[in-house]
Amino acid sequence: MKSRIYIYIAGTLLLIFLLLQCSGCSGIQKVTDTITNPTAREIYKREFKENEQAYSNWQAAYQAALNDSILVNLPYGEKGKFNPFADEVYAYDIVLEEGEVLIAEVVKDMAAQRVFIEVLSPDRAQTNAAEIKETKLEYIPEATGTYKVIIQPEIAADTPFFISIYKRPQYGFPVAGKGNADVGSFWGMERDGGRRRHEGIDIFARKGTPVVAATDGFITYTGERGLGGKQVWLRDGLLGKSLYYAHLDSITVKGSATVKTGDTLGFVGNTGNAKFTPPHLHFGIYTGRGAVNPLPFVFKTNKPEVGFFPFNYSAVQLSVKATANLRQGPSTSFNAIGQLTANDTVQLLGQHHDWLHIRTQNGRKAFLHKSLARQVK
Ligand SMILES: [Zn+2]
Repeated sequence: MKSRIYIYIAGTLLLIFLLLQCSGCSGIQKVTDTITNPTAREIYKREFKENEQAYSNWQAAYQAALNDSILVNLPYGEKGKFNPFADEVYAYDIVLEEGEVLIAEVVKDMAAQRVFIEVLSPDRAQTNAAEIKETKLEYIPEATGTYKVIIQPEIAADTPFFISIYKRPQYGFPVAGKGNADVGSFWGMERDGGRRRHEGIDIFARKGTPVVAATDGFITYTGERGLGGKQVWLRDGLLGKSLYYAHLDSITVKGSATVKTGDTLGFVGNTGNAKFTPPHLHFGIYTGRGAVNPLPFVFKTNKPEVGFFPFNYSAVQLSVKATANLRQGPSTSFNAIGQLTANDTVQLLGQHHDWLHIRTQNGRKAFLHKSLARQVK
């Protein structure tokens, strides 16, 4: 009996050993990776044992891009072609609000060519990097602030690309068939002659319109009380946020019920202190830190349209036609951050509508209106 157990253990160990050996065969993934959790960049470095200079140049380009200050509004799309002769890095500052989900995605003509996508938080303490070969990254910011998205193709990548950076709300919309335009009263507006502030948003809809679960979760309270009148409280997880639905005409869920996104909780009304106002849902979100602005959690957003292929020129040098402002972002509403004079040359990185994403001779990234530049051989 005992010996049979030993054989079983020995067999199991052999199997584990073989599995570990096998994962080592790829040459990329090491057995120790499961313990040390190296970044995609560190794994990539192993491909350059014979050419460490190429890797350190590539890594230096990344370090330099941490100081880039290109600023873009979302949704943002950029078409271009990676330059196989230079280590170009695409870095963008973006503003994110608590409640939003960031998506950064790179579509390539040559799917096998890798890109590294990373998001840095305002204090740089928190990062989130896409695994090697992945071309899409989702990121949930913990607080409102300016984040940095960094996209770097692998060394000598040579493919047309389309970069999409956009956001979506963490939750669904809480009133069936309604959207952004139906929000009639916002977070922070004065109430009771300035004695208190509006700790939520009001979504206007006809009496009887269904109000729905904006997220999966469970009901923690239903009933009628105080300013909110008939109300439902939904929790999005054991330690999660509390979603507050007020002024309902009637309630269709029971306390402690588990709900899925889109389930009907009740119907729009004007109970509580909304007795003399048009029917609406007052919607609030409460975290451990108190009330937060619910709008970014539910505000519907757009994606950029992908469809800029073909964009078949890379390593393009541009010559400036006349004195031209360099802009921090792709429109005249962004700050001018420098100036070029006639016949100055710059490197083209990509294009967003009529704005060219460029790198100057001294390594500065900026946007330049396309009417101000011509291609040089
Ligand atoms: Zn309200």
